[in-house]
Amino acid sequence: MAIARSESSVFLELRQREIPRGVSTAHPIVAQRADGARLWDVDGNEYLDFAGGIGVLNLGHRHPQIVEAVRAQLEQFIHVSFQVAIYEGYVRVAERLNRLAPGDAPKKTMLVSTGAEAVENAVKIARAFTGRPAVVTFQHGYHGRTLLTLTMTGKTSPYKQSFGPYCPEVYQAPYPYDYRGWTTERALSALDELFEAQVAPERVAAIVIEPVAGEGGFIPAPPEFLRELRARTERHGIMLVADEIQTGFGRTGTIFAIEHAGVVPDLICVAKSLAGGLPLAGVIGRADVMDAPEPGGLGGTYGGNPLACAAALATLDVFERQPILARARDVGERLHDAFRELARRHEQIGDVRALGAMVALELVEDRASKRPAGRLAAEIQREARERGLLLMRAGNDGCVIRILAPLVMTDEELDMGLARLHESCAAVLRS
Ligand code: PMP
Repeated sequence: MAIARSESSVFLELRQREIPRGVSTAHPIVAQRADGARLWDVDGNEYLDFAGGIGVLNLGHRHPQIVEAVRAQLEQFIHVSFQVAIYEGYVRVAERLNRLAPGDAPKKTMLVSTGAEAVENAVKIARAFTGRPAVVTFQHGYHGRTLLTLTMTGKTSPYKQSFGPYCPEVYQAPYPYDYRGWTTERALSALDELFEAQVAPERVAAIVIEPVAGEGGFIPAPPEFLRELRARTERHGIMLVADEIQTGFGRTGTIFAIEHAGVVPDLICVAKSLAGGLPLAGVIGRADVMDAPEPGGLGGTYGGNPLACAAALATLDVFERQPILARARDVGERLHDAFRELARRHEQIGDVRALGAMVALELVEDRASKRPAGRLAAEIQREARERGLLLMRAGNDGCVIRILAPLVMTDEELDMGLARLHESCAAVLRS
């Protein structure tokens, strides 16, 4: 497929001139229109979008029910601010998320606009409830770009290196990353050592973990690790917070990834695919914990925007009425099979990881050294784009190719995307 560039070049130049380089873009393409799993640029090129707006588009671009719900809400009102007046959308989203979250305890939900805000609020709530200062997070974890969530993020370049000093009382433990030597046992003993050497567990308000490290490279935490975390947090009165911002709403074949481990967290952070592309995020949690902050202690002008709430209610309807979760498991199996086949062909694919449709391959210089090969992943990403397939990278040095394709794509689109990925790997990797 030949990619045309003429219209795009105008905006690419404008972008270079008017927007700081710190705000980077994976693909030098200029979007004009999108539908389902496809995106067209201003030059009329068609792409299969396996980046899914970084995990936002589990139901695809412009899902018809979401479009309809947002359009209906536009006719009512766009904004009032929940700090000014109550509206049904916010209340209904909370009601439904409270029913969806695992565990029998009564729940409450607060809404904000971005994932980072959800994580910030989860920490505030856990501190208010426990009266303790410290937070434990994990290497390879990603929680956002505000200064607290950046402090909690376990990756320096490009996120952290220029922006310190960071927030106090944030401690980091190794994530269970088996391929790189961090077995469940090793990671747990490192956590126990952290409690002994750096912060007493009685001072810890929350442990915040992604059930599958997303930006860190699609690393699923073994169920046993999550269960042990639950046992330790219960023993020490620590709030267990699941950051389900990237893993939630069907990506792993369940509504929340933590369900695979049968673990009930105290708080869950949600965002991304909750609202099909409108900015909505939230914290769902045990009612007694959620009620710890004083009235007025939580909120924000835009939190729970009415259009975004309408989109979320439509999203939750789709999950309730259509077999999206089964589709995620099916898509996941097919991707996983295809990726294992790629790994059999190419020695520079060091690892293949999957939980449901959260599937990734990790590129290495060679299997013996396991040296992360971000340059190979970048070349595959570029080759794929030239063939009309948009991919995102993650992990150390960007060496992981991760799939966040809409779960509603057709089998034909899935096969077409995989064929383009196969060709791109063949163009870049040794056989
Ligand atoms: N947590 C996780 C697990 C994420 O994947 C992200 C976004 N990639 C965030 C938090 C931050 O979300 P946002 O970009 O909406 O602030």
